[in-house]
Amino acid sequence: MSHVPRLPAHPLSGAAAAPASIPSYLQADNLGPWGIYLQQVDRVVPYLGHLARWAETLRRPKRILIVDVPIHMDDGSVAHFEGYRVQHNTSRGPGKGGVRFHQDVTLSEVMALAAWMSIKNAAVNVPYGGAKGGIRVDPKTLSLGELERMTRRYTSEIGIIIGPTKDIPAPDVNTNEQIMAWMMDTYSMNEGATATGVVTGKPVALGGSLGRRDATGRGVFTVGSEAARHIGLDIATARVTVQGFGNVGGVSARLFAQAGARVVAVQDHGGTIFREAGLDVPALLAHVAAVGTVAGFAPAEVLPNDQFWDVDCDILIPAALELQITEHNAGRIQARMVIEGANGPTTPAADDILHERNILVLPDVIANAGGVTVSYFEWVQDFSSFFWSEDDINARLVRIMKEAFAGIWEVAQDHKVSLRTATFIVGCKRILQARELRGLYP
Ligand code: NAD
Repeated sequence: MSHVPRLPAHPLSGAAAAPASIPSYLQADNLGPWGIYLQQVDRVVPYLGHLARWAETLRRPKRILIVDVPIHMDDGSVAHFEGYRVQHNTSRGPGKGGVRFHQDVTLSEVMALAAWMSIKNAAVNVPYGGAKGGIRVDPKTLSLGELERMTRRYTSEIGIIIGPTKDIPAPDVNTNEQIMAWMMDTYSMNEGATATGVVTGKPVALGGSLGRRDATGRGVFTVGSEAARHIGLDIATARVTVQGFGNVGGVSARLFAQAGARVVAVQDHGGTIFREAGLDVPALLAHVAAVGTVAGFAPAEVLPNDQFWDVDCDILIPAALELQITEHNAGRIQARMVIEGANGPTTPAADDILHERNILVLPDVIANAGGVTVSYFEWVQDFSSFFWSEDDINARLVRIMKEAFAGIWEVAQDHKVSLRTATFIVGCKRILQARELRGLYP
């Protein structure tokens, strides 16, 4: 018997009617991450000067691939999953961006995540465009063998557009070093040659980079510390709350705790825990490694999930999924600073509320750029087959993040705009300058 998981209604099927010239799914009034991205672009256009004539480039993904991923399940049935790879822009270099395995993945989400990668890569000035991929699946329901078969078939299906000089995937939510190893192997088998540079975030034994695992959290900590200095906030006495305790949230919490901060509340898919005296972060990391969630950790109180947003703190780090801080909870947030470890956690309406309340938002497009920066180092090391020390990598990462943040802070002061708009100004200008210099083909 064939087992076909039911897919939710197509995410873009209910789009509002749009002017004939622009497809409905590219309209800003289409709710969802892509609509939010379009609103963010609208906010930046007035600051682009003569480059504004190319702004439409930012509103149109270069290439969208939707693939069917059929696999044999362990029980002998066949399951089909829907997969995506979106290349938003490649004016500055090959596409670059992660692959997400999650039951809520939609095309709108992958389009927005790809676009945010374009802005982010340009903001930290690594020579990449933006791309992203995903499969709508809850990987926790798959056996290891099913996960491997799904990853390999997906890689084979998107193999027509990825490659070390075309588009380089990396880990994102629910994907890790092992999945990157399977992707690298599948692509290499199809090409007939080992191509380590086709993905980043690989195991070090396969051409991965030292420091990659911690890179995004280290970037969060670096820009967070820089911003804290600007607003007179002492990290050593700060109270921190973290949503999402995976790669980004876990490492961020560890580095803030090491700097003396008190991590008082953590939320993940399993629940929310709180401890006034501060959670023991290394012990919590060990607990999550053992049982897969922060739930059940002691000593800590259990909070209802919704109360996470009311916890008194100086720094809030959303590091799970997008659309978490909305107009419904932005008024309740107690922090002085929000550092977006996750991509797209704050809606534009919530952005405005936080701005009015004088809460500084360090946007995803700079705050979590540490991951792609070390992915860039990994790719460079793979091409040159010469590998750097971890100290070297961390030092280069911190330098790039600090320089990028300083430039963005200055633009924000000059134009009296939010750090998000400032980062978009820097990123969009670089993308559109490349667009203009290259010209249109033919
Ligand atoms: P991960 O899979 O390692 O961790 C995700 C975490 O989010 C887990 O702790 C999970 O329990 C939690 N979570 C999931 N659903 C939740 C829910 N409904 N409520 C609360 N928590 C929930 O993923 P990650 O790599 O840490 O990525 C987290 C975010 O950071 C994503 O937005 C991702 O796009 C972004 N990001 C990741 C990287 C990277 O290098 N991994 C780089 C840049 C940005």
